[in-house]
Amino acid sequence: MTQSDCEQSIVSVDLEEPPSSRFETTTSEFSLPVVTPTSRIAPASLPTEPASFVAPAFKRPRTTTRTRAFRRAFFPEVADRDWNDWRWQSRNRIRTLQQFEKMLVLSSDERQALVDGGSMLPVGITPYYMSLLDREDANQPLRRTVVPVTGEFLRTPGEADDPLGEDGHSPTPGLVHRYPDRVLLLALDFCSTYCRYCTRSRVVGHGEIMPSEQRLEKAFEYIRQTPTIRDVLISGGDPLALSEDKLDWILGRLRSIPHLEFVRIGTKMPAVLPQRITPQLIRVFKKYSPLWMSIHFLHPDECTPEANQACARLADAGIPLGSQTVLLKGVNDRVDTMKDLVHRLLMMRVRPYYIYQCDPISGSAHFRTSVSKGLEIIEGLRGHTTGYAVPTYVIDAPGGGGKIPLQPNYVVGRDGNDLLLRNYEGQVYRYPDPTP
Ligand code: SF4
Repeated sequence: MTQSDCEQSIVSVDLEEPPSSRFETTTSEFSLPVVTPTSRIAPASLPTEPASFVAPAFKRPRTTTRTRAFRRAFFPEVADRDWNDWRWQSRNRIRTLQQFEKMLVLSSDERQALVDGGSMLPVGITPYYMSLLDREDANQPLRRTVVPVTGEFLRTPGEADDPLGEDGHSPTPGLVHRYPDRVLLLALDFCSTYCRYCTRSRVVGHGEIMPSEQRLEKAFEYIRQTPTIRDVLISGGDPLALSEDKLDWILGRLRSIPHLEFVRIGTKMPAVLPQRITPQLIRVFKKYSPLWMSIHFLHPDECTPEANQACARLADAGIPLGSQTVLLKGVNDRVDTMKDLVHRLLMMRVRPYYIYQCDPISGSAHFRTSVSKGLEIIEGLRGHTTGYAVPTYVIDAPGGGGKIPLQPNYVVGRDGNDLLLRNYEGQVYRYPDPTP
């Protein structure tokens, strides 16, 4: 059931709810206002209702005023049916300088980057995500993540095109086997919107990793022949850019491998193209339950009504949702921003899972923060909010060392048989911990 179906059914209950006999005896004292699907009951007009009274439905907005204004300005002739169609959104991505100049007041640096090109990563933004960008402010967090700047062309010491050494751990094209029991399957290299800090900018958008059956069969065969692999993460590019039929085929082939226990999908679609989460897609996912999903959310401004509906559909289908957030300078490197994000994610039934230190990819210096900034953010969350809202802060070790968790030091020392621990308020407590 979609959110809108659900809203309508609740309104219908209001209309059809028969008064109970106890209720009937009091109807002469007051009469219920007539509720129609489009009207609302003003709280002041409500009588003191008996327990059986069903409150009117709370109608959630379907979009933001910003998106509505953007559509009116740049796509006035586009019908809702098209705007809400993920294929239309994909076909109409904003990619040219001319389109950018029409929709944004470009800074000279943004303009220069778009004119020069030469970045490893192509440019592309869905109309929906473009509608979330600030037209004037080049420093708006979401805008910084998708509109190129010339900083992308500079390589600073310690940066590399493949900092995680994925290519060196690839037994077949598009399959990365770094940990003994799990693999990363790159389904394709296409994304509907290209993030300027992408770890895989060396491959993403280049048309080299195609979802061809021949390539994917080689990957499936490797997994089949390697019984230690129990976990596959399907990523890309964005695997949800594939058709339902293709996803059905990939999931079916993976599920036919007996020793494979755990299948995850990594995607940014609920943030950049939430229209992709259609009932048809959900039907495919339900066939292969249990599936888990890692969603890439960055900033509270991505938690729109559209994203909320996409996550609700996935969560209602029984798919556990976790978010992976890259820590980015000037985007989400403040405790209050990150706290707002993790709270909104929980409300969308997405568990904040990881905060990643930005990988040292070529041209990423303008995005990278110090590690102390990440620790400060974790310290500002742990103890200050719900435990479920606190992600694990990790560095993906350059060269292929895997994820290394980091957290503030809460052990301040030892006094005899007592361990001295610092709590979130900075107070020191003793825990009896005799030395062996
Ligand atoms: S969605 Fe993921 S793979 Fe695609 S550009 Fe963004 S970070 Fe890279």
